[in-house]
Amino acid sequence: MKPFSYTKARTEEEVIASLSSPGTRILAGGTTLYDLMKLDVETLAHLVDIASLQGLDDIRLGPERIELGALARMSDVAGHPELAARYPVLAEALAKAASQQLRNMATLGGNLLQRTRCAYFRNGLHYPCNKRLPGSGCAAQEGLDRNHALLGGSEACIAVYPGDFAVALVALDAEIETLGPGGRRRHKVAELHRLPGSTPHVETILEPEEMIIRIMVPAAPYGRASTYHKIRDRESYAFALTSAAVALDIEGDVIRSARIALGGVATRPWRVPDAEAMLAGQKFDERLAREAGRMAMRGAQPGRHNGFKLELGARTVAEAIRIASDRGARL
Ligand SMILES: Cc1cc2nc3c(=O)[nH]c(=O)nc-3n(C[C@H](O)[C@H](O)[C@H](O)COP(=O)(O)OP(=O)(O)OC[C@H]3O[C@@H](n4cnc5c(N)ncnc54)[C@H](O)[C@@H]3O)c2cc1C
Ligand code: SF4
Repeated sequence: MKPFSYTKARTEEEVIASLSSPGTRILAGGTTLYDLMKLDVETLAHLVDIASLQGLDDIRLGPERIELGALARMSDVAGHPELAARYPVLAEALAKAASQQLRNMATLGGNLLQRTRCAYFRNGLHYPCNKRLPGSGCAAQEGLDRNHALLGGSEACIAVYPGDFAVALVALDAEIETLGPGGRRRHKVAELHRLPGSTPHVETILEPEEMIIRIMVPAAPYGRASTYHKIRDRESYAFALTSAAVALDIEGDVIRSARIALGGVATRPWRVPDAEAMLAGQKFDERLAREAGRMAMRGAQPGRHNGFKLELGARTVAEAIRIASDRGARL
């Protein structure tokens, strides 16, 4: 690990000013940034700690929208009783991520900006990796790609976006508010993470001097009939092999509209409008859910070792639709 300097910011403006120095990065919970620094994947000159900034850890549930501060802890949001009742998909996506100890430290802003778990990216300079060293190649293409993406990949990179929470936010059309040298901006979470294309090292649309302030989720009729279904190698403390965030607007037993996003299978949280359209105006049944699951995985391009995700991904979506539909029927 390279030596670095550290300051604690007292205001948001101080953070933005610090970020103008090259090699400076925000430190929030530190649960993933320190790991990457120890692995020499991140070689930073300075960390600006935002953990003590006031007013950025709020959890507000209003009639128009939910507002979640970027410094709200994953465990506080996952365990918020009203949020869990009104938006199970959000609470479940957080509760099924990482471990309790990590969730107690980790913040929502840091969660959105976590980097891929591709082993070639994380484990040393011995492997070609376009994300870590642009132009060096991609070891995963001819290597172990079991955990890699079937959707949204490019010749340069097939790394999966690893987070759970962003997948749920994308399904709910959430936005983030950011602060940068030019003032405050809003972005759709669906546009936050970029496809790798030929520049996989450029992962988000954020400027280097931009800080996430809060997350806004519009209040909507599909919050309660929702779920985050996650399949992993072991039942806890593991990243998704496949996951699905599903939210349904249900009237009686008819699905008026559906929102579906996939995790674990794509290079960014992956919304599937065709599968959503297939459910609109229909009554739930198992066959329909299975068809929507298959539709959700349409266009997937399996590699050498991850073909199992095609069927698993389709089944994950189908099961999530069933769970959300059951919840809708009980409202
Ligand atoms: C063993 C392990 C298992 C895990 N399993 C899962 C899992 O199953 N699912 C899952 O979703 N996650 C998982 N994670 C990831 C975990 O959720 C993240 O480490 C955590 O959410 C990051 O939050 P943090 O506050 O600690 O971020 P930090 O480590 O402090 O920061 C992460 C990145 O975000 C940037 N950043 C932080 N806050 C802001 C902000 N407000 N504005 C701009 N930039 C910011 C930092 O500069 C840094 O680049 C796991 C992590 C570990 C170590
Ligand atoms: S998949 Fe992406 S992150 Fe992994 S080795 Fe290839 S370029 Fe690097």
